[in-house]
Amino acid sequence: ATAPATAPPAALDHLFLSVKTTRSYHKWRLPVLLQTWFQLARNQTWFFTDSVDVEFQEKTNGHMVNTNCSSSHNRKALCCKMSVEFDMFLESGKKWFCHVDDDNYVNVPRLLKLLGQFNPQEDWYLGKPSIRSPLEIILRDNPKRKVSFWFATGGAGFCLSRALALKMMPVASVGKFISIGEKIRLPDDVTMGFIIEHLLRKPLTVIDQFHSHLEPMKFLHQDTFHDQITFSYSRYSKDEMNVVKIDGFDKRIDPTRFLSLHCFLFPNSNFCSR
Ligand code: UDP
Ligand code: MN
Repeated sequence: ATAPATAPPAALDHLFLSVKTTRSYHKWRLPVLLQTWFQLARNQTWFFTDSVDVEFQEKTNGHMVNTNCSSSHNRKALCCKMSVEFDMFLESGKKWFCHVDDDNYVNVPRLLKLLGQFNPQEDWYLGKPSIRSPLEIILRDNPKRKVSFWFATGGAGFCLSRALALKMMPVASVGKFISIGEKIRLPDDVTMGFIIEHLLRKPLTVIDQFHSHLEPMKFLHQDTFHDQITFSYSRYSKDEMNVVKIDGFDKRIDPTRFLSLHCFLFPNSNFCSR
């Protein structure tokens, strides 16, 4: 027997999936997500942005969240968004919080399969670091002591169980996440790692199938695509892109390769000519 193409809907119900985005990226980055993997998790996926966008509010079925955070790419603005994502997850009552960037493709059934392997009533921080050794920092209030911890790269996607999120509440909920980011002066994903690994002493579980564009996407083999959980893309230069290597739509129609990837994974999708 072959594996079902989509996971049981019950598993989907336990997921809160947040996508970080920003006003000026809506038009460029969201359409391909909405056409592809978003269709497999329409009710679970929320886009956290920094403006009101009537057009995309309609296209996402009312799933754009205006965080009222600043629309600049600075630490405070990014930690502000993460803090709103985290609080909305807590409020949702869901068992799993997963975060991705707006340049990620999420293989939804594969993500659900991963989460199915862990108990959300235990503490789980699932993701993938992009540095070879733990980050070492020195805090201003104790310059003699080095603090070292792992963090999951936000641009590869990561997930937290509800049990862990509840333990994080006293230090990270209702805006406290921003204060910690300010204290250590590091980005949102690093702040997440600091809170979980350093403050709470809960280890990151490395999931190799998460991928950010810090990795060369061309190294992923087509015969493993079904097993990968996230993908990404970026631009190396004016005419070179870091994208998944896959045949399919013309590069002009599908510069990110996400349409082609989606048709490879889910050939019965409406826009795939099958
Ligand atoms: N982003 C944001 N505000 C900004 C710029 C970027 O919220 O001012 C978000 C963006 O939508 C994406 C993530 O931050 O989800 C990473 O941005 P980008 O891919 O541009 O940069 P990277 O850090 O990956 O090089
Ligand atoms: Mn990016």
